[in-house]
Amino acid sequence: MHELSIAQEIYRTSRAAVAGHGAGRLETVKVAVGELSAVEPDLLVFAWQALTQGGPDAESELKVEWRPARQFCAGCNADKPRSPGSWLRLCPQCGMALAVSGGDELDVLQVTFLPDEAAGEGGVADG
Ligand SMILES: [Zn+2]
Repeated sequence: MHELSIAQEIYRTSRAAVAGHGAGRLETVKVAVGELSAVEPDLLVFAWQALTQGGPDAESELKVEWRPARQFCAGCNADKPRSPGSWLRLCPQCGMALAVSGGDELDVLQVTFLPDEAAGEGGVADG
């Protein structure tokens, strides 16, 4: 399952973001996962748990923000709804080819962490 290697990459990115703020452990990591990124959110969360298990970041939580792709018809000048997992490609109203936008995101949006010192306050490492 390739979600594991993606989880490893997200973990590296998150750790690097925290490293700039001193020692600490990850609290939450928020990622955007696009519909067309070929990543299953459930599998990604599962991979994250397997990856962090037994380590200093075992309590951390991976939050997935789902980003659906959009289908746009230039003929109708409107977004066209569709059922999940199905691609119409042609507009059901006018028959024009639909343009697809978005849905390919795979980004770390936000990392929050808890400093090693219990007395300290948590922080947010953006980017
Ligand atoms: Zn149309």
